[in-house]
Amino acid sequence: MTKIRLTNTKTRRKEVFAPLDAANVRMYLCGPTVYDRAHLGNARPVVVFDVLYRLLRHVYGPEHVTYVRNFTDVDDKINARAAEMVAAGDGRPLVEIIRVLTDETIGWYHADMDALGALRPTHEPRATEYIGQMIVMIEALIARGHAYAAQGHVLFDVRSYPDYGALSGRSVDDMIAGARVEVAPFKEDPLDFVLWKPSSDDQPGWPSPWGRGRPGWHIECSAMSEELLWKKQIEAGRLSGKALEKPHTFDIHAGGIDLQFPHHENEIAQSKCVHPGSEFARVWMHNEMLQVEGKKMSKSLGNFFTVRDLLDKGVPGEVIRFVLLGTHYSKPMDWTEAKAREAEATLAKWRELVAGIPADQNPHPAILEALSDDLNTAGAIAVLHECESSGNLAALKASAMLLGLLEDGMGDWAVARSAYDSLKSVLVARAEARANKDFKTADIIRNALSEHGISIEDMPDGRFKPKLDAIKVFEHFNALPLQEKREFLGDNSYMEGSGVSVSLVTNAYQRMISKKILEALK
Ligand SMILES: [Zn+2]
Repeated sequence: MTKIRLTNTKTRRKEVFAPLDAANVRMYLCGPTVYDRAHLGNARPVVVFDVLYRLLRHVYGPEHVTYVRNFTDVDDKINARAAEMVAAGDGRPLVEIIRVLTDETIGWYHADMDALGALRPTHEPRATEYIGQMIVMIEALIARGHAYAAQGHVLFDVRSYPDYGALSGRSVDDMIAGARVEVAPFKEDPLDFVLWKPSSDDQPGWPSPWGRGRPGWHIECSAMSEELLWKKQIEAGRLSGKALEKPHTFDIHAGGIDLQFPHHENEIAQSKCVHPGSEFARVWMHNEMLQVEGKKMSKSLGNFFTVRDLLDKGVPGEVIRFVLLGTHYSKPMDWTEAKAREAEATLAKWRELVAGIPADQNPHPAILEALSDDLNTAGAIAVLHECESSGNLAALKASAMLLGLLEDGMGDWAVARSAYDSLKSVLVARAEARANKDFKTADIIRNALSEHGISIEDMPDGRFKPKLDAIKVFEHFNALPLQEKREFLGDNSYMEGSGVSVSLVTNAYQRMISKKILEALK
C-alpha cells in the first residue's frame, strides 16, 4: 500500500500516516460561515483537501473514507446580514430571512465548489441541526469543571486545561499578551471563550439550561465531528480494531492556518475536556493563506474577489483549481492573472491531446509518490508535464484525474473555446460584415458554413457559438484514404490507427472550412 506522509501541525513533523481504521479513514474540514459568496482564499482549503480526499479514496478505496465539512449557519455575521435585509424593508420574520439567506448561500457555495471540481464531502452538517449535541457537550464541560455559566453565557475556563496552546505552540501567558482578547464582565479570565450566549428576541435562539440563546462558533465543530465521525460511525458498525480502542478520536482535522488559533485550540480544549484521555484529531493539517498579485486580498485594496466573480469573468473552474494546486499548501500562494492564463493554455493543450484517449487504469506511480509526500501538488503537476513530453497521454489523463483535472464533466470550456478558435477568422469576418451593415456578405458566410454542416447560434450578448455534428465529420474523416486524412489534419506524419480524437478532427475540419470560405470571398 502507498505510504502517505503528512506534516502534522501538532508535532511539527512529517509523519507516516496510519489511520486508526484503514476500512474507515475519517477527516474533518472546517467549512464556511454561510452569509456571503466564498472568496478565492476560502477556496484554497477546499481544493487542497479535496486532493487529500481523492488521494485517500485512491489508496484506501472510495467507500473507506468519511469526510465531513460543516456549514456554520448560526453566526453574528449572518444575523447582521439578515438585519440589513429587515432594515431594507424585508417584512418576513427574522428566522425565515435567516433560513432563506443561509439556504441560498449554501446553494451558491455548492455551485462554486462544484465548478472547482471539489467532490462533495460524505457529510455536510449544518450547525443549527446539532444544537442538542452542543448543549449536551456544554453541560458535560460544566460538570467536569471546565466551564461556567455567567449572565446567560457559558464560558470555557482556559486555565482548567493545562495543554491549551499546544497546537500553535503558544503559552497561555503569551496569548494574553499578544491576542486581541475580549474583556467582558462575565469572564473570569480574558482568555475564556464563549460556548453559549444569550439571544435577544430579534436574534435566533434555542432553549437551554442557561436560557434562550445560541452556541459559540468553536463548540459547533467539536459537537459535529463527535457526532458524525464517532457516534454515527459506531452506530453504523463502521469502526473496528484500533479505532474502538481510541474513542472520540478521528484521523485528520484540516483547515486554514488562520483557524489554528484560537478556533482549533478551542476545539481541542473542548473535545479533550469532555472526553478525557481521547486524542480528538490525530493529525492536524493547515494550509497557508492566499494573496493576489503579491498583495493581501482585502476589500480596501480593491483586489477582493469571489470565486463566482472569476467564473463570471470567464475563468474556468478547472483553471482556478490548477492555479491553486500549483503551490504547496504549506506555503503562501499568490494568485496572478499571468498564472491563470498559463494554466488555461496548458489545460486546453492537454485536453486536446487526451481527447478520445482512454485513461490508464491507474495514475502514474510518480504522481502518487508526489502526492503521498505531504500532498506535493506542485510536484504532481510537474509529473503531468513529464507525461505530456514523453507522449504518455493515457497516463497524463489518469494522473490528472487524481488531481481532479481533465475530468470529462469539467471540459466544456475547452471544447467551446477550441471550436471557436478554429472558426475564429471566418466568424470575425462575419461579425465585421454585420457591423458594416454588409448583410449580403454576412449571409454568404452563414450559408457557406451551413452547407458544410456548421450552424451559427447568435448569443444575446452579440457573440456566437458554432455548432456541428461532430460524429458525422468524424465518420467522414474515417472514410478518407490515408493521404487525404493527412491533408485533412494538416499532419503528414499521421499514421492509420494512431489515436485521433473527435475534437482534433472537428477542429481541423473547421479550420479547413474557414480557410475555404475566406478564400472564396476574396
Ligand atoms: Zn472548525
